[in-house]
Amino acid sequence: MASVTLENVKKVYAGGVEAVQGVSLAIPDGEFTVLLGPSGCGKSTLLRMIAGLETITEGTISIGGRIVNHIEPAERDVAMVFQNYALYPHMSVYDNMAYGLRNRGAPKREIEHRVMEAAKLLAIVEFLKRKPRELSGGQRQRVAMGRAIVREPQAFLFDEPLSNLDAKLRLQMRIEIRRLHNRLKATSIFVTHDQIEAMTMADTIVVMNQGHVEQVGAPAEVYRLPATRFVATFIGSPPMNLLPGRIAGADEVEVGRERIAFDSAAFPVEPGRAVEVGVRPEDLRLETDGTGTLTFTGDFTEELGATRLLHGVVGDWAMVVALHGPAPRGDSFRLRADPAAVHLFDPATGYSLRRTGQSSA
Ligand code: ADP
Repeated sequence: MASVTLENVKKVYAGGVEAVQGVSLAIPDGEFTVLLGPSGCGKSTLLRMIAGLETITEGTISIGGRIVNHIEPAERDVAMVFQNYALYPHMSVYDNMAYGLRNRGAPKREIEHRVMEAAKLLAIVEFLKRKPRELSGGQRQRVAMGRAIVREPQAFLFDEPLSNLDAKLRLQMRIEIRRLHNRLKATSIFVTHDQIEAMTMADTIVVMNQGHVEQVGAPAEVYRLPATRFVATFIGSPPMNLLPGRIAGADEVEVGRERIAFDSAAFPVEPGRAVEVGVRPEDLRLETDGTGTLTFTGDFTEELGATRLLHGVVGDWAMVVALHGPAPRGDSFRLRADPAAVHLFDPATGYSLRRTGQSSA
């Protein structure tokens, strides 16, 4: 297996679309890295440049320390797993998996051995004689992974491989892929627009937006310490609440007539400074002890079983509160935001104002 390194990689498509605008990344050997971002942010383009399916306009890409910019896809020793499986319909599962090795002229016995090992690992031995059309979506995706595994590549590249599966199967496959990774410890780069997929599968998430990288970090880090307003709202469902405010005193922000306390060890205190205050729905509590500082008026409740989401307003601003306990009475309550979980962003740039070197709340 190998590390993958990107230095100032750019992609400008014919027609002038700047799909990737100078991305630098160090993907360590054996890690599961997820490229996450909304549709059109450039994540597939980046993956396809690593695979060699797209030319690189500027910058360098190295796999295992070797610059691959001008190396043919087949010579890069990476295996791609696609959303549409890309299986040969007229070939059996066995032949689909063996195809790449046969093309390379691998000895028959070695091909047999590798296909059987991969088929056992993926629990598809009983399907080896079938054609792809005789398989379910999840089984086809396993065959596509098997075809990648038999090649024993330097890195696996996954391009939204779960998007075609129904919700239940997606959940199952993401656990399977992650289990497989824990066994094979193969360098894996996985593209998705689904933040839950990213949170549950990644060692490291690379959050992308409009062709650039917003933040790189472990799932808990990008969730708890978002570097930008974009990351704060893209990760988390429902997203973080954002309210315009002004720093009022030692460790409080004024939001209209309401106040929200923040941790002055984590954020600089600059009285009068305009900020955007962020607080996740689960970091808001119903007041029980007279410390509530926000007046919330609810107008709609989403019942989710273990939690319920109260939708409403604080002053003029929309707010969502996630509650575990019993349903509150009435529509209007006092709320308290956990000061250690309150975020402040620069309203102009969207960057978090968090002092550097702060640990998670
Ligand atoms: P994502 O995978 O994040 O959805 P893509 O990498 O597919 O994003 O696309 C990034 C941007 O590049 C988009 O604006 C898209 O329209 C554009 N793009 C993608 N492929 C091409 C192409 N072959 N020619 C021109 N523009 C393209």
